[in-house]
Amino acid sequence: MATKTPVECPLCRRVLRPARSLEAHLVDDHSKRELAKFVVCENEALTHGDVS
Ligand SMILES: [Zn+2]
Repeated sequence: MATKTPVECPLCRRVLRPARSLEAHLVDDHSKRELAKFVVCENEALTHGDVS
């Protein structure tokens, strides 16, 4: 299944070209720390359940 829908990066809100995977973007353009921060924020939001 070839996805043609543009993917938006959840970290920087940049819309990625279809040829580029989100994974490749994350690895190339974001540091481990940025990724960790994002995951922690998501996790806290889930834990506290107060998504505004
Ligand atoms: Zn990004």
